[in-house]
Amino acid sequence: MSKQTLSFQAEVAQLLHLVTHSLYSNPEIFLRELISNASDACDKLRFEALNNPALYEDAPNLEVRVSYDKDARTLTIADNGIGLSQQEAIDNLGTIAKSGTREFMGRLSGDQKADAQLIGQFGVGFYSGFIVADKITVESRRAGAAAGEGVRWTSGGTGDFEVETIERAQRGTSVTLHLRDDAQDYLNTWKLKDIIGKYSDHIALPILMRKEEWKEGEEGKGGEMVLTDEWETVNQASALWTRPKKNITDEQYAEFYKAISHDFEAPLAWAHNRVEGSSEYTQLLFIPGKAPFDLWNRDKKAGVKLYVKRVFIMDDAEALMPTYLRFVKGVIDSADLPLNVSRELLQESRDVKAIRDGSTKRVLSMLEDLARQEKEGESDEAKAKYGKFYAEFGAVLKEGLGEDFANRDRLAKLLRFASTTSDTVSVSLADYKARMKEGQDAIYYITADTLAAAKNSPQLEVFRKKGIEVLLMTDRVDEWALSHLSEFDGTPMQSVAKGAVDLGKLQDEAEKKAAEEAAEAFKPVLAKLKEALKDKAEDVRVTTRLVDSPACLVVKDQGMSLQLARMLKAAGQAAPEVKPVLEVNADHALVKKLDGSVHFNDLAHILFDQALLAEGGLPDDPAAYVRRVNALLV
Ligand code: ADP
Repeated sequence: MSKQTLSFQAEVAQLLHLVTHSLYSNPEIFLRELISNASDACDKLRFEALNNPALYEDAPNLEVRVSYDKDARTLTIADNGIGLSQQEAIDNLGTIAKSGTREFMGRLSGDQKADAQLIGQFGVGFYSGFIVADKITVESRRAGAAAGEGVRWTSGGTGDFEVETIERAQRGTSVTLHLRDDAQDYLNTWKLKDIIGKYSDHIALPILMRKEEWKEGEEGKGGEMVLTDEWETVNQASALWTRPKKNITDEQYAEFYKAISHDFEAPLAWAHNRVEGSSEYTQLLFIPGKAPFDLWNRDKKAGVKLYVKRVFIMDDAEALMPTYLRFVKGVIDSADLPLNVSRELLQESRDVKAIRDGSTKRVLSMLEDLARQEKEGESDEAKAKYGKFYAEFGAVLKEGLGEDFANRDRLAKLLRFASTTSDTVSVSLADYKARMKEGQDAIYYITADTLAAAKNSPQLEVFRKKGIEVLLMTDRVDEWALSHLSEFDGTPMQSVAKGAVDLGKLQDEAEKKAAEEAAEAFKPVLAKLKEALKDKAEDVRVTTRLVDSPACLVVKDQGMSLQLARMLKAAGQAAPEVKPVLEVNADHALVKKLDGSVHFNDLAHILFDQALLAEGGLPDDPAAYVRRVNALLV
């Protein structure tokens, strides 16, 4: 292949522009990113070589070399990993294949500070080299390919790049950064060692640098450090998770977490364990403190990687963690899984399932621990952790109610809600139960779009009057999730917007009697109402749940709520036509007016449409509603 000039994919050009303009406040991360790529390339070689040992050629020791040339002003990161073919260089270094790229680009605001955070999370990888370099040369040869099939890739990081075929004896990739004028301080052994120690110490491969030596100046004047031809390892070169816990500092755990998660903040919690039993493995799992921008992308790669005896095998999301724990980051390293079977077979294997179950339980105990600290924590910081976690990931955790039946009871205990007595999302089901009224036999809740809508719902009136707490749920997932939780610790969960209210023992005999009499007296009007609204309402009945409002809408016990049906519709999904039940307050002045009114039909429709408005819906025919109200006003 003679020299070719190709253009970057539009997204890359955009990303490159951002990288060079927003990441300069933390430029040194480029080294972490490039070393991490080098290490991934070695992982890939090791994995492919399991079935094809010839790929090692005559260099079985995988390593990364960092070197620099002061005169040429270049810094080179070289690995002897899997390497790139010519086509791979074009594809991988000219486009972004990552899932969520478009979503990521859409989120960029143009505000450099906010964007810098986002870019960090997205992981700029290779392109971060352009923070410090105005030109990058990559030379590579794929393991197993002939020496004549090497490739040189060069770019100034603007619109395009060049590729050409070269001779290259060594397998693997070397990335040479031509440093910008303001980045010359990276041409310094001490500085590079410092950065490697900070960000890349956990890398399992040896990272080598040339040794330096003191050289006296002429006639004893002005000596200097000079590079020798001898290489030394400058990191610990053992995977962090394989080291004994007591030798790892909190800072090292935090740095490792940041490196694998692209998070800027330290994790909220972690667990590092050796699990022994039918299968033996090490787990190092982290709970982040902040949700990534693509948390709602359920298909993205998980943050948990599976290794077998230190060889990276896969990061297949669902095989290692249930979807509802997709925020967990970390590493699982098995001591006894077979190395030479395909990923597909492994995913299906019973041992991997056992690891997944074990890791799920571990994450739940970490969360239980954080939840315990809410009350028992020794510092305000410890007490605040669970709330912080829940604000970021609570809605995701709830998906587990429908996904993970085996752990449903544990999950239910981890839930927190706002309620009619607490505006903050802090009420657990156990808290609620502990303060239930004498005679109360259900946990009441309501779902709505916003906290204000939930709080002002007419359906709550009687509960408020009787001082009964109601949980207020405003996450989109709530209704679906709660449909999988019919009871908590023996007490049924009851939506106040579904079915007829039965306050059971909470109503005294006199109230019950009065209600029955009112219903009886109202019967003839009710029949007329049903007839007038037969196209809109499934049924019309008298209720005791209302105090100040004339009417409200409810759905049948097992039905889908109006709110969920609206949400599905708005999302363009098929939603069943929900015909609600109209409940009327026979004590209300407006309802009393119905009997004998010449405007009966208009009043009936207004009652219905207003009930719909009150709970956040829109009348089917808004113009007709306005016409009716105006006719009465006039
Ligand atoms: P990411 O590593 O997140 O996929 P990068 O932009 O860092 O994204 O790299 C893009 C791709 O280029 C990688 O997925 C990999 O295929 C390839 N690549 C980068 N560096 C190397 C390397 N040192 N050796 C082999 N391939 C590499």
